[in-house]
Amino acid sequence: MPECDFCCLPGAQWVYVLQDRAVVALLSDEGLVTPLPNDGRWRACDICSELVDTQGMAGLVARSLSSLRMLGVPIPDGGPDLEHMAMVVMANFATVLAARPTRQPLQGRAS
Ligand SMILES: [Zn+2]
Repeated sequence: MPECDFCCLPGAQWVYVLQDRAVVALLSDEGLVTPLPNDGRWRACDICSELVDTQGMAGLVARSLSSLRMLGVPIPDGGPDLEHMAMVVMANFATVLAARPTRQPLQGRAS
């Protein structure tokens, strides 16, 4: 099963297609945080899809950071490093949420 682009766990059931190519930059203590480039298609699992639909940014960021940690990605436990990482994740997701994403069932999923 393909991975969810939000939490990076396998089990994506949906794909969000961005209608606008917005770029959302956030201002942190260290300066401007810009999102990573994306192809305008974001796969999502059921849980993340629920969060996208309800604009649940805090939940999306928390879920993403904790699943990355579970997958072995070194995530700082706190402090400015964690804050910066959360800002990057937030900038990515804000770009999606601001772009009027439309949800479609993911094609080719295993039934
Ligand atoms: Zn997910």
